[in-house]
Amino acid sequence: MTAWTDPPAPAPHAADWAAFKAAIAPVETIDEQSLVRQKSRDFYWYSPILKRQLNKHFGDIVALPANEAEVIKVTAACARMRIPLTVRGAGTGNYGQAMPLAGGVILDMTKMDRIVSLDAGVLRVEPGLKLIDLEAKTIPQGWELRFHPSTRRTATIGGFIAGGSGGIGSIAYGTLRDRGTVRALRVVTVEENPRTIVLEGDDVQKVVHAYGTNGIVTELDIALARTWPWAECIASFKDLMGAVRFAQAVGESDGLIKKELAVVDWEAAKYFKPLAGHLREGETIAIVVLAEAGLEAFRDLVEEHGGACVFERAGAEGDESIPPLYEFTWNHTTLQALKVDKSITYLQTLYPPPCHVDLVEKMWKEFGDEVPIHLEFARMSGRVGCFGLQLVRFTTPERLKEIIEFHNANGCPIFDPHTFLLEDGGMRMVDEAQYEFKRAADPHGLLNPFKMRAWEERTPTGGKWAEVRF
Ligand SMILES: Cc1cc2nc3c(=O)[nH]c(=O)nc-3n(C[C@H](O)[C@H](O)[C@H](O)COP(=O)(O)OP(=O)(O)OC[C@H]3O[C@@H](n4cnc5c(N)ncnc54)[C@H](O)[C@@H]3O)c2cc1C
Repeated sequence: MTAWTDPPAPAPHAADWAAFKAAIAPVETIDEQSLVRQKSRDFYWYSPILKRQLNKHFGDIVALPANEAEVIKVTAACARMRIPLTVRGAGTGNYGQAMPLAGGVILDMTKMDRIVSLDAGVLRVEPGLKLIDLEAKTIPQGWELRFHPSTRRTATIGGFIAGGSGGIGSIAYGTLRDRGTVRALRVVTVEENPRTIVLEGDDVQKVVHAYGTNGIVTELDIALARTWPWAECIASFKDLMGAVRFAQAVGESDGLIKKELAVVDWEAAKYFKPLAGHLREGETIAIVVLAEAGLEAFRDLVEEHGGACVFERAGAEGDESIPPLYEFTWNHTTLQALKVDKSITYLQTLYPPPCHVDLVEKMWKEFGDEVPIHLEFARMSGRVGCFGLQLVRFTTPERLKEIIEFHNANGCPIFDPHTFLLEDGGMRMVDEAQYEFKRAADPHGLLNPFKMRAWEERTPTGGKWAEVRF
């Protein structure tokens, strides 16, 4: 049953802040309250539940380390003085991930933005580098991120690893959980005498998508993909299921090199104001990014499925007033809708292959326009399946729970975006190894308090990994 646990009441952390600042000098700090409050926010307000729960939670001070030695100064002081510590990249997470629930220090990583090396397609980089700046350096060398969140223009690479899941490129490379993409993480512990630990192989999964609850990433190795000249396309279809079957066919067309494959029902696409001149009223769209070389074959496929190409843009040409099409996909779809209608919220759903197409149809028939369909197709253990980031016309928390429970009961697991708890949302569980890593790396429980249920209850949750956060 869905139960949304309330966080503790908001309260500043009582500490001798002058002594703290002296202990961490020369690390830059911000204690001007309006700025501290700004840096205490993320995109939690997408959820009416989290908005009510987290609105009054703030940190007390921001520290901005410039290198790993400065991170160590901060963690040592926090451990000695028992001050809570919440790590922050760009603050674009959706579930209050980077919001301090016990006050204390916000550790802003954005000054640590150095590329260390790029060797045979593996990038070693500091966590605070923005994704857009990262690719500005690697694309001229023929390499790009295998996949990136739709927040490419704002988010950091460390925030993506610790808080994200997949995105544009997941149709080719799956998600962060898939072996081979995140190669190594260098992590600083929160102890009186902090250590640095290097995680490699499957061990990286202890920290991937753990919301910075069990270590601070100071450097990471990530495998990249070869770049292609990409084309952005929108194909329009008279009905939802026609568009879904088309998307499945594109996903399974091995000769087409794809980077993005989304289906958006008219009830969601109607909010895409910058695209209004291109969309056909009442029709469902497929948003596709593919290698330019495949455009002709793609057009044939659209025709075969009874659709029409209504937008095409290759390279830098075309209407510059239209943002990159990826800013209409993944969780940007929700953002476009929220710009027009503040009452909207969303879900995160797995429609597991091979039954995903039938499951989408079943849920659509059940909820109709109350839950407008938005699908993101992705590689899932070698198969093409889809995630849903459906919109929800929110009425009451009780109705939202009913919708979630109906999906869960009908083979479409919901990764609840209305909870700040790791296990109740995308992570689904914190196993023995992760729990033990938390005990070793953060023995006083100071990192991002109240986010890991296993820690609060001193019990790993067991079971198998099932993770998908956007
Ligand atoms: C409009 C919109 C669209 C989005 N689309 C996607 C999407 O397509 N795919 C996707 O996966 N996500 C998506 N997200 C969520 C989010 O934008 C991404 O996950 C993003 O990569 C987070 O990066 P950030 O720098 O903003 O991290 P933050 O929000 O600052 O942090 C995220 C989490 O990581 C932790 N953290 C940050 N840096 C470190 C570090 N160095 N060490 C340890 N922990 C750290 C923080 O404590 C926090 O728990 C979207 C969000 C929005 C608002």
